[in-house]
Amino acid sequence: MKYSLVCRNCGLKFQDNGFAFSCPAGCSSIISTHYPSLFHPKGQGIWRYANWLPVEGENSYIGKPVLFKSPELSSEVGAEVYIAFHGYFPEIGAELITCTFKEIEAAVSLRYAAEKGADIALASVGNTANAFLTFSHYEDINVYLFVPERVFECVFCYEKSENATLVMVDGSYDDASNLARKFAELKGIEYEGGGRNVARRDALATLAYAFLETYGFLPDVYFQAVGSGTGAIAFYEGSRRLIDSGMADKLPRIVVAQNEPFTPIVDAWQRKSREIGSYEYDPLDVVYAKVLTNKNPLYSMRGGLYDIMGETGGFAVSASEREAKEAGKLFREIYGVDLYPAAAVALAALLKSNVDGKVLLNITGAGFRRLKKDYRIKRPKPDFVITDEDDLETIA
Ligand SMILES: [Zn+2]
Repeated sequence: MKYSLVCRNCGLKFQDNGFAFSCPAGCSSIISTHYPSLFHPKGQGIWRYANWLPVEGENSYIGKPVLFKSPELSSEVGAEVYIAFHGYFPEIGAELITCTFKEIEAAVSLRYAAEKGADIALASVGNTANAFLTFSHYEDINVYLFVPERVFECVFCYEKSENATLVMVDGSYDDASNLARKFAELKGIEYEGGGRNVARRDALATLAYAFLETYGFLPDVYFQAVGSGTGAIAFYEGSRRLIDSGMADKLPRIVVAQNEPFTPIVDAWQRKSREIGSYEYDPLDVVYAKVLTNKNPLYSMRGGLYDIMGETGGFAVSASEREAKEAGKLFREIYGVDLYPAAAVALAALLKSNVDGKVLLNITGAGFRRLKKDYRIKRPKPDFVITDEDDLETIA
């Protein structure tokens, strides 16, 4: 077998029968892939690392992050700052046409689903939906995207895939997510699984491999703004694979950033608690970086952010809307490109943190204004508008 799945709690190894991202023994832990093969880059883009992706073939997705060192930010931060730029900025070779790293996740998740012969349903607050809307046609499956009404204005593509169905949910992200899950059950298709889906995380883990190939080492510190924490866990997992393969010797400190006032991971981390608090309000109402509003992040469970930050000596830090906007302005002055709010939060958090050594800042989204100059962006209308479970029957 190319890979097996491993429970991060009890260590049980099992075969992947498709969309079983939970331990057969009942643990609520993260399930990771284990690849017996060694590091073996070959080819281009993310498919260069295909032997460490949970798929047999590849599709025509060609996007990848652009890596560079930033002397300007290094002097601001007082450390050696490297950027992983995910976005649209052809001047530096960055051509992610939905502007965020979500499209890298989507490309491999779609391939994974297609190889399992599964149609999928998932919820998104915007970037993920845009990625799946744009790239679903790479695979011959049906994709159902559930997006809350209040972030629907963020949905865009330049050509909507015919096999993608866009469902607007009159409710919160939690509502959208619950309805996507129920719809999958009702229809007998798969709930895509978000950050628990190994295809998504292993897609993002390719950043660690690309960094190592470019610079010959892993960073001392990895910085990223997180909603669910998928990208940060993926970078940790990728780094661990490189260490196990004898390619690197030290795990990067994993640092995650969130946007005030909704900072469940930062709050729990500062309490030194494994438990995420409960928040009664809808964070989409109060947060500038709306993609950072996950109420159920991958934090508490074994193999989640609490364990990873503890193991690597990392931490969690918050930044305000004002700090994020100032950071975004600084980045635009240096590089001439606009950051997405979440990426600005990550930069703001880095600027206020005391770190040294080699720091990798993941710019998870950028260049929407730049994209609009080159592409005629479409704002697709929902195929269906629903409010509750009863409406699921109406979705064809
Ligand atoms: Zn287990």
